[in-house]
Amino acid sequence: MAYKTINPYTNELLKTYPNTTDAELEQALASGHQLYQQWRTAAPSTRAATLHQLATLMRTEKHQLATVLTTEMGKLIGEAEAEVELCADIADYFADHGADLLAPTPLTTGAGKAYFAKQAVGILVMVEPWNFPYYQIMRVFAPNYMVGNPMILKHASNTPSSAAAFADVVTRAGAPAGSLTNLFISYDQVSAAIADKRVAGVALTGSERGGAAVAQEAGANLKKSTMELGGNDAFIILDDADWDLVKAVAPQARLFNNGQVCSASKRFIVMADKYEDFLAYMKAEFAKAKPGDPLDPATTLAPMNSARAKQKLQKQVDAAIAAGANVYAGNHPIDLPGQFFEPTILTDITKDNPAFDEEMFGPVAAVYKVHSEAEAIALANDSSYGLGSTVFSQDANRADRVAQQLEAGMTTINRAWITAPELPFGGVKHSGYGRELCESGLNAFVNEHLILNA
Ligand code: NAP
Repeated sequence: MAYKTINPYTNELLKTYPNTTDAELEQALASGHQLYQQWRTAAPSTRAATLHQLATLMRTEKHQLATVLTTEMGKLIGEAEAEVELCADIADYFADHGADLLAPTPLTTGAGKAYFAKQAVGILVMVEPWNFPYYQIMRVFAPNYMVGNPMILKHASNTPSSAAAFADVVTRAGAPAGSLTNLFISYDQVSAAIADKRVAGVALTGSERGGAAVAQEAGANLKKSTMELGGNDAFIILDDADWDLVKAVAPQARLFNNGQVCSASKRFIVMADKYEDFLAYMKAEFAKAKPGDPLDPATTLAPMNSARAKQKLQKQVDAAIAAGANVYAGNHPIDLPGQFFEPTILTDITKDNPAFDEEMFGPVAAVYKVHSEAEAIALANDSSYGLGSTVFSQDANRADRVAQQLEAGMTTINRAWITAPELPFGGVKHSGYGRELCESGLNAFVNEHLILNA
């Protein structure tokens, strides 16, 4: 496996990284384990200042850090800067609240005086994807830094420069050696690390296939894991939806980060009376996306992250069409050298079409017509995935009733998907298990150690 940075706008190979040797992996494990021995008895509050410093550095260096993301995986520079800011907010959140959330929790029992001591468990292996290269790391790093779990990072092979930049800013913020070691390791080395006695768990964000492989390794070694996997989120527009609100939100719910978002709205489920208007509106909005250099703030359509990702998406769209889907908009080649994909709208996707239950990780929207609330719910739930979902209705009780019936880890009402440090992130079904961020993320790899004094 080669770790390399290829600019998806110019297709230029910018840098290759040598693979980590087994000796270097051993060194990372030894250094992480040594740190764990120190950290396990040190109060979480002693680690908060470093996270605040990390947040400060990230805000100060926002543009430089964002440029690394844009150059390496193509996202629009404004979106890259927003990602850096979000990371700083996550670091601050766990620095501010981590120690309180990790305080001993008293338990009521007739057996004596009892409490949970919330303790570190050991080294974690973190396996992360390229779509939000800093944010995905920070979701695991900040809470576990407070807990006292050292981390080994295996980032995606197409975002090594982002991984290196993140590890560098963490070091400059004052984090000790071993707290986050970025390695360019193979799948076999990931397996070896998971099997190592000093490793306590693994957190993966990525595809179903990657998740299943790594979860299997974790299970075979009786190590705890969290899996943040793909999604095929429904965006339900009920007949009493606020139409202006829908129009303000829907295009970006699909096109943000060039559609390469696990919790992007991918299936738009529209009540019949608004179906044609919705399609026409989305088509007009998608046509406005202006391809160009993602470092130029005037560009609104970024290239996809890699040639491979673009080819995969094209193959999925071609297969959908071959199985009877209608191309309502887009799907024309873009005459630029970068990995551009024209925002596309597919309709008439029947249940036997492969596109019905596949995640399309790019700017492709599937639009479905339904005739009732019950049909909308049934269609939304007819998916292998269960990450996020969105409901639009002006009737708060109705929207809540629909939300509660959706098989999803996260549902937003009258707004598109959101992520924030204080809100949990994660899904059900093939979208994975476990939650990141907020208190749930902090407790993901904690030993809730019962101490009972009779
Ligand atoms: P991927 O192929 O699974 O890769 C993700 C990470 O897992 C990469 O670092 C990859 O390394 C590694 N990996 C894959 N198979 C592995 C194995 N057998 N052993 C060890 N490591 C392995 O995912 P992707 O297709 O690039 O990423 C997009 C997917 O991530 C989408 O499905 C998206 O929905 C999902 N995602 C989910 C969330 C969430 O929070 N739920 C957030 C973002 C993205 P290499 O790069 O070296 O192959």
